[in-house]
Amino acid sequence: MRLNAFKPDLLTVVRRTVNPNAEYGRSICCPFHRETDPSLHIFENQSWYCFGCGKGGDVYDFLGNLRYGDSWDNRNKEMFREIGKSVDNSVFKKVYIDYNTKTQEPEISEETKEAFQWAAKAYHQALISGRDNGGDAARSYLYSRGITDKTIRKLKIGYAGRSVLHKKGLTLKPEERTAYLDKMKNAGFIKYGKEYFFNRIIFPNITKSGDVLTLTGRALNPEAKRYLNIPNVRKKLYLLELADPENDLYITESVTDAVSLYQLGYSVAAVNGTAMSKQMKASLEAFKKIIIVPQNDIPSMNAACSWCEAIPRCKIMLPEYIDGEEKDVNDILRLEGEHTCASKLRTAADNLLDWSAYAEKVREKYLLWSENENQH
Ligand SMILES: [Zn+2]
Repeated sequence: MRLNAFKPDLLTVVRRTVNPNAEYGRSICCPFHRETDPSLHIFENQSWYCFGCGKGGDVYDFLGNLRYGDSWDNRNKEMFREIGKSVDNSVFKKVYIDYNTKTQEPEISEETKEAFQWAAKAYHQALISGRDNGGDAARSYLYSRGITDKTIRKLKIGYAGRSVLHKKGLTLKPEERTAYLDKMKNAGFIKYGKEYFFNRIIFPNITKSGDVLTLTGRALNPEAKRYLNIPNVRKKLYLLELADPENDLYITESVTDAVSLYQLGYSVAAVNGTAMSKQMKASLEAFKKIIIVPQNDIPSMNAACSWCEAIPRCKIMLPEYIDGEEKDVNDILRLEGEHTCASKLRTAADNLLDWSAYAEKVREKYLLWSENENQH
């Protein structure tokens, strides 16, 4: 049985809580903001989104927003438990979460590839030189996460300050400068005259030969959207190109977890989110042994199970943090250092679970799907 099978059905929940006439593919009036024209859309893939207030998510996010309003946090275990208790078992049914989303990827031109290369280089230099304002803060942030200078250099991690790319442009001859800035604009790095990635740590997704496939920016400002990707470029598994198919491949949800594992010598790839696309799945074909390292929260655990569904040869690693307060591998690295983190991961690697055993453990812990299983 799939873990997704234990998720309450979104449409049933919406019908029972806010609108008995709700249908998939149609909009209803949003219960989370005042409106007269319906703008909350319910999708057949068990997600919802309000085009009015921008709220959205899965069935738990719907219930969570009803119960907790804006303070709902889908990574908060206490809130999750409360929501779980409030759900009537009869609304649970088998739901399949489609992980194949989005349309065809636009072709990436040679010019754009070159722009990626230039931008990654400029951001990396801004970080290691500390010249651009904020570069020091970015480096301190990375050190505080346990990430070393050696890793920063190997992975060409960078920092996008207020005007890294503009300043780089100023070093060029005027006729070259215009072409350079146009390229940066076309590639999406400059929008309305401003740096798209401003005040973010930049993680370029590099290949062994140093090509840059795409870039991801992690916000330093806690108020900002945490991760930003370049628009119109399909996400690829972060760091996968550096992994050796002869090795076991460890898959994480977050970029920082992947960087942490890379630093400890693992072959690793990050999904950078919970949705594994068809293309990502295809890119894993060469890897025989794949081990998922979920974070210590429900969305990540759900994601781990859906990835297993997509790629049945996956196993799941369960670091001891399932019983602790640490949120992810990077937490172990940051709080306990490389040595302890490495030894904890070695222990966990000796005890890999298939997804059903894992789902069992998760259920035990959260009680969220208890009893319901007996009904199927
Ligand atoms: Zn709304």
